[in-house]
Amino acid sequence: MVEETQRPMSDSSPGPSVPVNDLVRHTRSIRKVVDQAIGGVLDSGWFVLGPRVTEFEGALAALCGTGEAVGVANGTDAIEIALRALDIGPGDEVITVANAGGYSTTAIRAVGAQPVYVDIDPTTLQIDPLLASQAQGPNTAAVVVTHLYGRMAPVDRVVAAAGSIPIIEDCAQAHGANLGGRSAGGWGTLGCFSFYPTKNLGALGDGGAIVGSDGGLMARVRRLRQYGWGGKYLTADSGGRNSRLDELQAAVLTVQLPLLSEWNRRRREIDAAYRAGIDHPAVRPIPLGHGDVVHLAVCVADNRSSLRSHLHEVGVITDIHYPQPDYAAPPGGFAPLPQTEDACNRVLTLPCFPEMTDAEVDRVIAGVNSWRT
Ligand SMILES: *Cc1c(COP(=O)(O)O)cnc(C)c1O
Repeated sequence: MVEETQRPMSDSSPGPSVPVNDLVRHTRSIRKVVDQAIGGVLDSGWFVLGPRVTEFEGALAALCGTGEAVGVANGTDAIEIALRALDIGPGDEVITVANAGGYSTTAIRAVGAQPVYVDIDPTTLQIDPLLASQAQGPNTAAVVVTHLYGRMAPVDRVVAAAGSIPIIEDCAQAHGANLGGRSAGGWGTLGCFSFYPTKNLGALGDGGAIVGSDGGLMARVRRLRQYGWGGKYLTADSGGRNSRLDELQAAVLTVQLPLLSEWNRRRREIDAAYRAGIDHPAVRPIPLGHGDVVHLAVCVADNRSSLRSHLHEVGVITDIHYPQPDYAAPPGGFAPLPQTEDACNRVLTLPCFPEMTDAEVDRVIAGVNSWRT
């Protein structure tokens, strides 16, 4: 994931461009507690899977309302290990969407299973729960439900229709979100998180976690993240990985956790300002539910490339999440997904990060509204 943060200033530019995200500002805002956390790890001499990982796992499980959390190396590994813990592999099919960046596809293919794509709801851009239930067949081994852009997918309806088929929630964009009071990660059999630096809760490098409440399953997850070991050097499960969370990242994540709800509140405020202020017949913001957080402020635009170049001309940087359906390569073999393809052609991500100023928010709104299609 490459984020554009700067563009050269033109003579007519009113100031530095508004970036999509700004990790320099973000890191500056937490520098003191992060420095202390890092110092503590350095003094401890314990760098991988130690007391700080255990502390963070406890705090994340509390946030999600799950019995346990297990730290892993990144969000894609989290999905892969969740699939392995559920014994999913060759011959199995896993239902997922094709507009969410391809992470679930990567994990499903890594375990040798086959992704089965279902189309999305054209308004929310989340998985269509009816299509997800219709896609279930004799080989369906799991459904991966991605809470895209920080919005909660209709995971309640997917869970209700799935019967005994396990649900894996991809919560990599939904730290702190809830649906009807139940947290992202608390609905499925297992929930997967990424702490990539740009996420709503981000590490200073890679990180991930799996949450869940089935003790036996979580014990298996814990073994699979470290070679399948049941005890030191003693292999208990095949299919293990080396996918550990390190103490530095865990310590940095733990000190940020108390700040997450305020960051999410500011992200929601920015998204609300866009939905209130953007008044253009060819631009439609994505709806926001009561318990949603905002990871990305995404709108749907006709003639996206024209809007995008107009915004760049007025100093507003944008990005596209995501520009192609997962099945673009290799081609063929899948039923057409018209809403997914339409979304990939029209979604545009506007700047949104907690440290964004009101003046920057206003520039984005004015920029969109001044676009002549
Ligand atoms: C970022 C992301 C992931 C993958 O996380 P990594 O830590 O980069 O492997 C998975 N799913 C979604 C929806 C994401 O946004």
